Amino acid sequence: MSELTVIDGATVVTMDPDRTEHSVGHVVVEGSRIRSVSAGRYAPTGEDVALIDGTGCVLTPGLVNTHHHLYQWATRGYAVDATLFEWLTALYPVWGAIDERVVGQAAAAGVGRLALSGCTTVMDHHYVFPRNGGDVLGAEIAAAGDVGVRFFATRGSMDLGRSDGGLPPDHVVESIDQILGATAAAIDAHHDASPDAMVRVGVAPCSPFSVTTDLLREAARLARDRGVRLHTHLAETLDEDDFCRERFGQAPIDYMESLGWLGPDVWFAHGIHFDDNAIGTLARTGTGVAHCPSSNARLGAGVCRTRDLLDAGAPVGLGVDGAASNEATSLLEEARHAVLFARALGGPTALGVRQALEAATLGGARLLGWADQIGSVEAGKQADLCVWRMDTLVHAGIADPVAGLVLGAPPPLDLVLVAGRAVVRDNHLVRVEESALARGAAEASERLRHPAPVG
Ligand code: ZN
Repeated sequence: MSELTVIDGATVVTMDPDRTEHSVGHVVVEGSRIRSVSAGRYAPTGEDVALIDGTGCVLTPGLVNTHHHLYQWATRGYAVDATLFEWLTALYPVWGAIDERVVGQAAAAGVGRLALSGCTTVMDHHYVFPRNGGDVLGAEIAAAGDVGVRFFATRGSMDLGRSDGGLPPDHVVESIDQILGATAAAIDAHHDASPDAMVRVGVAPCSPFSVTTDLLREAARLARDRGVRLHTHLAETLDEDDFCRERFGQAPIDYMESLGWLGPDVWFAHGIHFDDNAIGTLARTGTGVAHCPSSNARLGAGVCRTRDLLDAGAPVGLGVDGAASNEATSLLEEARHAVLFARALGGPTALGVRQALEAATLGGARLLGWADQIGSVEAGKQADLCVWRMDTLVHAGIADPVAGLVLGAPPPLDLVLVAGRAVVRDNHLVRVEESALARGAAEASERLRHPAPVG
Protein backbone atom coordinates (compact mmCIF):
# COMPACT_ATOMS: atom_id res chain seq x y z
CA MET A 1 0.00 0.00 0.00
CA SER A 2 1.37 3.41 -0.89
CA GLU A 3 2.01 5.93 1.85
CA LEU A 4 -1.17 7.79 0.92
CA THR A 5 -4.50 6.00 0.74
CA VAL A 6 -7.76 7.64 -0.21
CA ILE A 7 -11.13 6.03 0.51
CA ASP A 8 -13.41 7.86 -1.86
CA GLY A 9 -17.16 8.17 -2.28
CA ALA A 10 -18.36 6.51 0.92
CA THR A 11 -20.89 7.90 3.35
CA VAL A 12 -18.62 9.10 6.16
CA VAL A 13 -19.78 9.03 9.79
CA THR A 14 -17.03 10.82 11.69
CA MET A 15 -18.04 10.97 15.39
CA ASP A 16 -16.08 14.24 15.47
CA PRO A 17 -17.11 16.90 18.07
CA ASP A 18 -19.93 18.10 15.75
CA ARG A 19 -20.88 14.49 14.89
CA THR A 20 -20.41 15.41 11.23
CA GLU A 21 -21.70 13.00 8.58
CA HIS A 22 -20.97 13.34 4.86
CA SER A 23 -23.48 11.56 2.61
CA VAL A 24 -20.64 11.37 0.09
CA GLY A 25 -17.15 12.03 1.35
CA HIS A 26 -13.54 10.96 1.29
CA VAL A 27 -10.85 10.20 3.85
CA VAL A 28 -7.13 10.55 3.20
CA VAL A 29 -4.87 8.27 5.23
CA GLU A 30 -1.15 8.99 5.48
CA GLY A 31 0.86 6.20 7.06
CA SER A 32 -0.76 5.28 10.37
CA ARG A 33 -2.87 8.44 10.67
CA ILE A 34 -5.78 10.25 9.08
CA ARG A 35 -4.62 13.26 7.12
CA SER A 36 -8.01 14.71 6.20
CA VAL A 37 -11.75 14.05 6.18
CA SER A 38 -13.83 15.93 3.61
CA ALA A 39 -17.22 16.15 1.93
CA GLY A 40 -17.56 15.21 -1.74
CA ARG A 41 -15.37 13.15 -4.05
CA TYR A 42 -11.60 13.24 -3.97
CA ALA A 43 -10.00 15.63 -6.48
CA PRO A 44 -6.60 14.25 -7.57
CA THR A 45 -3.73 16.53 -6.59
CA GLY A 46 -0.94 14.84 -8.52
CA GLU A 47 0.23 13.00 -5.41
CA ASP A 48 0.80 9.27 -5.66
CA VAL A 49 -2.19 7.70 -3.88
CA ALA A 50 -3.79 4.28 -3.54
CA LEU A 51 -7.42 5.00 -4.36
CA ILE A 52 -10.11 2.81 -2.80
CA ASP A 53 -13.61 3.18 -4.19
CA GLY A 54 -16.02 3.50 -1.25
CA THR A 55 -19.15 3.89 -3.37
CA GLY A 56 -22.03 1.98 -1.81
CA CYS A 57 -20.26 1.87 1.56
CA VAL A 58 -20.44 3.63 4.90
CA LEU A 59 -17.19 4.53 6.62
CA THR A 60 -17.12 4.69 10.42
CA PRO A 61 -14.52 4.81 13.17
CA GLY A 62 -13.27 1.34 14.09
CA LEU A 63 -15.29 -0.16 16.91
CA VAL A 64 -13.79 -0.27 20.41
CA ASN A 65 -14.56 -3.23 22.64
CA THR A 66 -14.35 -2.37 26.34
CA HIS A 67 -14.93 -5.70 28.10
CA HIS A 68 -13.99 -9.24 27.15
CA HIS A 69 -12.39 -12.49 28.33
CA LEU A 70 -10.76 -13.94 25.25
CA TYR A 71 -9.78 -17.26 26.85
CA GLN A 72 -13.50 -18.07 27.05
CA TRP A 73 -13.57 -18.58 23.29
CA ALA A 74 -12.45 -22.14 24.18
CA THR A 75 -15.39 -22.61 26.59
CA ARG A 76 -18.41 -21.56 24.55
CA GLY A 77 -21.63 -23.49 25.00
CA TYR A 78 -21.36 -24.48 28.67
CA ALA A 79 -24.12 -24.00 31.30
CA VAL A 80 -26.36 -22.49 28.68
CA ASP A 81 -29.47 -22.16 30.87
CA ALA A 82 -27.83 -21.07 34.14
CA THR A 83 -27.59 -17.99 36.38
CA LEU A 84 -24.27 -16.14 36.64
CA PHE A 85 -23.29 -17.84 39.88
CA GLU A 86 -24.30 -21.32 38.58
CA TRP A 87 -22.51 -20.60 35.32
CA LEU A 88 -19.35 -19.50 37.15
CA THR A 89 -19.46 -22.54 39.40
CA ALA A 90 -19.72 -24.84 36.36
CA LEU A 91 -16.93 -23.08 34.47
CA TYR A 92 -14.28 -22.35 37.10
CA PRO A 93 -13.00 -25.98 37.09
CA VAL A 94 -12.76 -25.92 33.27
CA TRP A 95 -10.99 -22.55 33.29
CA GLY A 96 -8.60 -23.87 35.91
CA ALA A 97 -7.04 -26.06 33.19
CA ILE A 98 -6.11 -23.25 30.76
CA ASP A 99 -2.51 -22.57 29.83
CA GLU A 100 -0.69 -20.25 27.46
CA ARG A 101 -1.32 -22.53 24.47
CA VAL A 102 -5.08 -22.67 25.07
CA VAL A 103 -5.24 -18.94 25.73
CA GLY A 104 -3.20 -18.13 22.62
CA GLN A 105 -5.46 -20.24 20.41
CA ALA A 106 -8.67 -18.96 22.02
CA ALA A 107 -7.51 -15.35 21.83
CA ALA A 108 -6.49 -15.62 18.17
CA ALA A 109 -9.96 -16.89 17.23
CA GLY A 110 -11.74 -14.40 19.50
CA VAL A 111 -9.75 -11.43 18.21
CA GLY A 112 -10.21 -12.60 14.62
CA ARG A 113 -13.95 -12.79 15.13
CA LEU A 114 -14.01 -9.30 16.67
CA ALA A 115 -12.00 -7.84 13.79
CA LEU A 116 -14.55 -9.35 11.41
CA SER A 117 -17.29 -7.50 13.33
CA GLY A 118 -15.48 -4.17 12.80
CA CYS A 119 -13.58 -4.05 16.05
CA THR A 120 -10.21 -2.31 15.74
CA THR A 121 -9.40 -2.02 19.46
CA VAL A 122 -9.88 -5.08 21.64
CA MET A 123 -9.84 -4.88 25.41
CA ASP A 124 -9.32 -8.05 27.38
CA HIS A 125 -9.84 -8.76 31.07
CA HIS A 126 -7.83 -11.84 31.94
CA TYR A 127 -8.08 -13.02 35.53
CA VAL A 128 -7.44 -16.81 35.52
CA PHE A 129 -3.75 -17.60 36.05
CA PRO A 130 -3.43 -21.29 36.95
CA ARG A 131 -0.15 -22.37 38.49
CA ASN A 132 2.11 -23.76 35.74
CA GLY A 133 -0.12 -22.13 33.09
CA GLY A 134 2.80 -20.23 31.53
CA ASP A 135 2.61 -16.69 30.16
CA VAL A 136 -1.09 -16.49 29.33
CA LEU A 137 -1.14 -12.69 29.14
CA GLY A 138 1.80 -12.69 26.73
CA ALA A 139 0.02 -15.31 24.61
CA GLU A 140 -3.06 -13.16 24.08
CA ILE A 141 -1.04 -10.02 23.40
CA ALA A 142 0.89 -11.95 20.73
CA ALA A 143 -2.36 -13.27 19.21
CA ALA A 144 -3.83 -9.77 18.95
CA GLY A 145 -0.62 -8.58 17.30
CA ASP A 146 -0.84 -11.39 14.73
CA VAL A 147 -4.41 -10.45 13.76
CA GLY A 148 -3.34 -6.79 13.68
CA VAL A 149 -5.73 -5.05 16.10
CA ARG A 150 -4.93 -2.52 18.81
CA PHE A 151 -5.02 -4.25 22.18
CA PHE A 152 -5.81 -3.14 25.73
CA ALA A 153 -4.75 -5.99 28.02
CA THR A 154 -5.71 -5.91 31.66
CA ARG A 155 -3.96 -8.07 34.23
CA GLY A 156 -6.81 -9.49 36.27
CA SER A 157 -6.64 -11.54 39.44
CA MET A 158 -8.52 -13.50 42.10
CA ASP A 159 -7.32 -13.92 45.70
CA LEU A 160 -10.56 -14.79 47.53
CA GLY A 161 -10.96 -18.57 47.20
CA ARG A 162 -13.84 -20.72 48.31
CA SER A 163 -12.23 -21.56 51.66
CA ASP A 164 -12.24 -17.80 52.48
CA GLY A 165 -15.87 -17.24 51.51
CA GLY A 166 -15.27 -16.33 47.86
CA LEU A 167 -16.68 -18.03 44.76
CA PRO A 168 -13.64 -19.37 42.84
CA PRO A 169 -12.03 -22.69 43.80
CA ASP A 170 -8.80 -22.30 45.73
CA HIS A 171 -6.51 -23.65 42.98
CA VAL A 172 -7.20 -20.72 40.63
CA VAL A 173 -6.51 -17.95 43.18
CA GLU A 174 -3.14 -16.27 43.78
CA SER A 175 -1.65 -14.38 46.74
CA ILE A 176 -1.71 -10.58 46.83
CA ASP A 177 2.06 -10.40 46.53
CA GLN A 178 2.08 -12.69 43.49
CA ILE A 179 -0.68 -10.65 41.86
CA LEU A 180 0.87 -7.23 42.46
CA GLY A 181 4.29 -8.45 41.34
CA ALA A 182 2.95 -10.03 38.16
CA THR A 183 0.79 -6.98 37.40
CA ALA A 184 3.72 -4.59 37.77
CA ALA A 185 5.79 -6.91 35.55
CA ALA A 186 3.04 -6.95 32.89
CA ILE A 187 2.95 -3.15 32.87
CA ASP A 188 6.74 -3.01 32.55
CA ALA A 189 6.79 -5.57 29.75
CA HIS A 190 3.84 -4.48 27.63
CA HIS A 191 2.36 -1.04 28.47
CA ASP A 192 3.07 1.60 25.84
CA ALA A 193 1.89 5.11 26.76
CA SER A 194 3.05 6.62 23.46
CA PRO A 195 0.54 8.08 20.96
CA ASP A 196 1.28 5.28 18.45
CA ALA A 197 0.81 2.51 21.03
CA MET A 198 -0.63 -0.79 19.80
CA VAL A 199 -0.67 -2.33 23.31
CA ARG A 200 -1.64 -0.82 26.63
CA VAL A 201 -2.09 -2.52 29.99
CA GLY A 202 -4.49 -1.91 32.88
CA VAL A 203 -5.05 -3.34 36.36
CA ALA A 204 -8.21 -5.43 36.80
CA PRO A 205 -8.98 -7.57 39.86
CA CYS A 206 -11.91 -9.79 38.89
CA SER A 207 -14.91 -8.76 41.04
CA PRO A 208 -15.84 -7.95 44.66
CA PHE A 209 -16.82 -11.59 45.31
CA SER A 210 -13.55 -13.07 44.07
CA VAL A 211 -10.95 -10.65 45.46
CA THR A 212 -10.13 -9.29 48.93
CA THR A 213 -10.52 -5.73 50.14
CA ASP A 214 -6.74 -5.49 50.52
CA LEU A 215 -6.20 -6.48 46.89
CA LEU A 216 -8.68 -3.89 45.62
CA ARG A 217 -6.99 -1.17 47.67
CA GLU A 218 -3.46 -2.18 46.64
CA ALA A 219 -4.45 -2.62 42.99
CA ALA A 220 -5.76 0.97 42.89
CA ARG A 221 -2.53 2.18 44.46
CA LEU A 222 -0.42 0.30 41.90
CA ALA A 223 -2.46 1.59 38.95
CA ARG A 224 -2.22 5.22 40.12
CA ASP A 225 1.47 4.81 40.83
CA ARG A 226 2.08 3.56 37.26
CA GLY A 227 -0.42 5.88 35.55
CA VAL A 228 -2.52 3.04 34.11
CA ARG A 229 -6.26 2.39 34.22
CA LEU A 230 -8.42 0.36 36.59
CA HIS A 231 -11.20 -2.04 35.68
CA THR A 232 -13.41 -4.67 37.30
CA HIS A 233 -16.87 -6.23 37.16
CA LEU A 234 -19.47 -4.37 39.21
CA ALA A 235 -23.22 -4.48 39.80
CA GLU A 236 -23.76 -7.41 37.45
CA THR A 237 -26.16 -9.31 39.71
CA LEU A 238 -28.32 -8.82 42.77
CA ASP A 239 -26.35 -11.68 44.38
CA GLU A 240 -23.29 -9.40 44.26
CA ASP A 241 -25.31 -6.60 45.86
CA ASP A 242 -26.34 -8.95 48.69
CA PHE A 243 -22.74 -10.18 49.05
CA CYS A 244 -21.36 -6.62 49.47
CA ARG A 245 -24.08 -5.55 51.91
CA GLU A 246 -23.68 -8.70 54.03
CA ARG A 247 -19.90 -8.77 54.03
CA PHE A 248 -19.02 -5.05 53.97
CA GLY A 249 -22.26 -3.37 55.06
CA GLN A 250 -22.26 -1.25 51.90
CA ALA A 251 -23.69 -1.13 48.41
CA PRO A 252 -21.10 -2.14 45.78
CA ILE A 253 -20.57 1.46 44.60
CA ASP A 254 -19.94 2.74 48.16
CA TYR A 255 -17.61 -0.16 48.86
CA MET A 256 -15.59 0.68 45.75
CA GLU A 257 -15.56 4.40 46.60
CA SER A 258 -14.16 3.62 50.05
CA LEU A 259 -11.24 1.83 48.36
CA GLY A 260 -10.32 4.62 45.93
CA TRP A 261 -12.01 2.89 43.01
CA LEU A 262 -13.82 5.83 41.39
CA GLY A 263 -12.52 8.39 38.90
CA PRO A 264 -11.98 9.11 35.21
CA ASP A 265 -9.31 6.39 35.12
CA VAL A 266 -11.77 3.67 36.22
CA TRP A 267 -14.45 1.78 34.31
CA PHE A 268 -16.73 -1.02 35.46
CA ALA A 269 -18.15 -3.87 33.40
CA HIS A 270 -21.97 -4.32 33.38
CA GLY A 271 -23.29 -1.78 35.91
CA ILE A 272 -26.79 -3.24 35.76
CA HIS A 273 -27.96 -2.78 39.33
CA PHE A 274 -26.84 0.80 39.98
CA ASP A 275 -29.47 2.93 41.74
CA ASP A 276 -29.93 6.68 41.20
CA ASN A 277 -27.37 7.45 43.88
CA ALA A 278 -24.76 5.21 42.26
CA ILE A 279 -25.42 6.70 38.81
CA GLY A 280 -24.92 10.18 40.26
CA THR A 281 -21.65 9.07 41.84
CA LEU A 282 -20.39 7.58 38.55
CA ALA A 283 -21.23 10.79 36.68
CA ARG A 284 -19.70 13.08 39.32
CA THR A 285 -16.45 11.14 39.32
CA GLY A 286 -16.26 10.43 35.57
CA THR A 287 -16.24 6.67 36.19
CA GLY A 288 -17.25 4.69 33.10
CA VAL A 289 -19.51 1.70 32.44
CA ALA A 290 -18.93 -1.03 29.83
CA HIS A 291 -22.45 -2.07 28.83
CA CYS A 292 -22.60 -5.72 27.71
CA PRO A 293 -26.22 -6.23 26.65
CA SER A 294 -25.95 -9.68 25.01
CA SER A 295 -24.04 -11.30 27.88
CA ASN A 296 -26.36 -9.72 30.44
CA ALA A 297 -29.36 -11.09 28.58
CA ARG A 298 -27.75 -14.52 28.03
CA LEU A 299 -27.26 -14.84 31.81
CA GLY A 300 -30.59 -13.19 32.61
CA ALA A 301 -28.79 -10.61 34.76
CA GLY A 302 -30.84 -7.59 33.64
CA VAL A 303 -30.33 -4.46 31.52
CA CYS A 304 -27.93 -1.59 32.24
CA ARG A 305 -29.63 1.82 32.67
CA THR A 306 -27.86 3.40 29.69
CA ARG A 307 -30.36 6.24 29.28
CA ASP A 308 -29.96 7.32 32.90
CA LEU A 309 -26.16 6.98 32.78
CA LEU A 310 -25.95 9.10 29.62
CA ASP A 311 -28.41 11.70 30.98
CA ALA A 312 -26.32 11.97 34.14
CA GLY A 313 -23.15 12.39 32.06
CA ALA A 314 -21.40 9.11 32.92
CA PRO A 315 -19.13 7.66 30.20
CA VAL A 316 -20.66 4.59 28.50
CA GLY A 317 -18.97 2.11 26.15
CA LEU A 318 -19.95 -1.32 24.86
CA GLY A 319 -18.46 -4.73 25.46
CA VAL A 320 -19.13 -8.19 24.07
CA ASP A 321 -18.00 -9.83 27.35
CA GLY A 322 -16.45 -13.29 27.25
CA ALA A 323 -17.62 -15.77 24.62
CA ALA A 324 -18.77 -18.21 27.31
CA SER A 325 -21.67 -15.81 27.98
CA ASN A 326 -21.94 -14.37 24.47
CA GLU A 327 -21.24 -16.98 21.85
CA ALA A 328 -21.78 -14.39 19.05
CA THR A 329 -19.20 -11.77 20.19
CA SER A 330 -20.01 -9.19 17.53
CA LEU A 331 -19.51 -5.64 18.76
CA LEU A 332 -21.84 -4.25 16.10
CA GLU A 333 -24.57 -6.55 17.41
CA GLU A 334 -23.95 -5.12 20.89
CA ALA A 335 -24.88 -1.69 19.52
CA ARG A 336 -28.10 -3.18 18.14
CA HIS A 337 -28.91 -4.94 21.39
CA ALA A 338 -28.14 -1.78 23.37
CA VAL A 339 -30.80 0.07 21.37
CA LEU A 340 -33.38 -2.72 21.41
CA PHE A 341 -33.08 -3.56 25.11
CA ALA A 342 -33.07 0.11 26.18
CA ARG A 343 -36.22 0.77 24.14
CA ALA A 344 -37.95 -2.42 25.22
CA LEU A 345 -37.62 -1.21 28.79
CA GLY A 346 -37.64 2.58 28.46
CA GLY A 347 -39.71 3.38 25.38
CA PRO A 348 -38.85 4.66 21.91
CA THR A 349 -36.58 7.51 23.01
CA ALA A 350 -34.49 5.47 25.45
CA LEU A 351 -31.48 5.16 23.12
CA GLY A 352 -30.85 6.47 19.60
CA VAL A 353 -29.03 4.55 16.89
CA ARG A 354 -26.32 7.22 16.72
CA GLN A 355 -25.92 7.17 20.48
CA ALA A 356 -25.38 3.41 20.27
CA LEU A 357 -22.79 3.80 17.51
CA GLU A 358 -21.11 6.49 19.60
CA ALA A 359 -20.93 4.13 22.59
CA ALA A 360 -19.36 1.49 20.30
CA THR A 361 -16.69 3.92 19.07
CA LEU A 362 -15.90 7.19 20.84
CA GLY A 363 -17.54 6.13 24.11
CA GLY A 364 -15.38 3.02 24.22
CA ALA A 365 -12.25 5.01 23.43
CA ARG A 366 -13.06 7.30 26.33
CA LEU A 367 -13.41 4.35 28.73
CA LEU A 368 -9.98 3.11 27.69
CA GLY A 369 -8.43 6.60 28.06
CA TRP A 370 -7.57 6.49 24.37
CA ALA A 371 -10.01 9.07 22.91
CA ASP A 372 -7.18 11.44 21.95
CA GLN A 373 -6.02 8.84 19.38
CA ILE A 374 -8.96 6.63 18.42
CA GLY A 375 -12.78 6.51 18.46
CA SER A 376 -13.50 9.04 15.69
CA VAL A 377 -12.52 9.74 12.09
CA GLU A 378 -10.67 13.05 12.36
CA ALA A 379 -7.51 14.55 10.89
CA GLY A 380 -4.52 13.67 13.06
CA LYS A 381 -6.07 10.65 14.71
CA GLN A 382 -5.00 7.04 14.20
CA ALA A 383 -6.36 5.55 10.97
CA ASP A 384 -8.54 2.94 12.67
CA LEU A 385 -11.66 2.71 10.53
CA CYS A 386 -14.25 0.43 8.96
CA VAL A 387 -15.71 0.50 5.45
CA TRP A 388 -19.02 -1.38 5.53
CA ARG A 389 -20.68 -2.59 2.30
CA MET A 390 -24.25 -1.26 2.21
CA ASP A 391 -25.24 -2.20 -1.35
CA THR A 392 -25.80 -5.93 -0.88
CA LEU A 393 -29.17 -7.67 -0.66
CA VAL A 394 -29.68 -6.96 3.05
CA HIS A 395 -29.05 -3.17 3.01
CA ALA A 396 -29.29 -1.83 -0.55
CA GLY A 397 -31.55 1.22 -0.69
CA ILE A 398 -31.88 1.80 3.05
CA ALA A 399 -32.75 5.44 3.79
CA ASP A 400 -30.35 5.85 6.70
CA PRO A 401 -27.07 3.89 6.54
CA VAL A 402 -26.42 4.36 10.28
CA ALA A 403 -29.76 2.69 10.96
CA GLY A 404 -28.68 -0.06 8.57
CA LEU A 405 -25.54 -0.59 10.62
CA VAL A 406 -27.14 -0.49 14.04
CA LEU A 407 -30.62 -1.91 13.43
CA GLY A 408 -29.95 -4.14 10.44
CA ALA A 409 -27.92 -7.30 10.07
CA PRO A 410 -24.15 -6.70 10.29
CA PRO A 411 -23.06 -5.76 6.75
CA PRO A 412 -19.98 -7.23 5.06
CA LEU A 413 -16.76 -5.31 5.66
CA ASP A 414 -14.93 -4.13 2.58
CA LEU A 415 -12.01 -2.90 4.62
CA VAL A 416 -10.85 -2.50 8.20
CA LEU A 417 -7.75 -0.41 8.85
CA VAL A 418 -5.82 -0.32 12.12
CA ALA A 419 -3.07 2.29 12.23
CA GLY A 420 -3.50 2.57 8.45
CA ARG A 421 -2.83 -1.13 7.86
CA ALA A 422 -5.45 -3.49 6.42
CA VAL A 423 -6.68 -6.09 8.93
CA VAL A 424 -9.85 -7.10 7.05
CA ARG A 425 -10.41 -6.95 3.29
CA ASP A 426 -13.43 -8.28 1.37
CA ASN A 427 -14.87 -9.57 4.66
CA HIS A 428 -11.84 -11.77 5.43
CA LEU A 429 -8.87 -11.39 7.74
CA VAL A 430 -5.78 -10.25 5.87
CA ARG A 431 -2.87 -11.08 8.15
CA VAL A 432 -3.82 -14.54 9.44
CA GLU A 433 -5.48 -17.62 7.97
CA GLU A 434 -9.06 -17.88 9.27
CA SER A 435 -9.16 -21.67 8.89
CA ALA A 436 -6.01 -21.96 11.04
CA LEU A 437 -7.67 -19.87 13.76
CA ALA A 438 -10.73 -22.12 13.63
CA ARG A 439 -8.60 -25.27 13.91
CA GLY A 440 -6.74 -23.76 16.88
CA ALA A 441 -10.00 -22.87 18.62
CA ALA A 442 -11.34 -26.40 18.11
CA GLU A 443 -8.14 -27.91 19.47
CA ALA A 444 -8.10 -25.63 22.54
CA SER A 445 -11.77 -26.38 23.27
CA GLU A 446 -11.19 -30.11 22.92
CA ARG A 447 -8.20 -30.01 25.28
CA LEU A 448 -10.33 -28.29 27.95
CA ARG A 449 -13.15 -30.81 27.53
CA HIS A 450 -10.74 -33.74 27.85
CA PRO A 451 -7.79 -32.57 29.93
CA ALA A 452 -4.76 -34.85 30.12
CA PRO A 453 -4.56 -36.71 33.43
CA VAL A 454 -2.27 -34.93 35.92
CA GLY A 455 0.94 -36.72 37.02
ZN1 ZN B 1 -16.89 -10.14 32.20
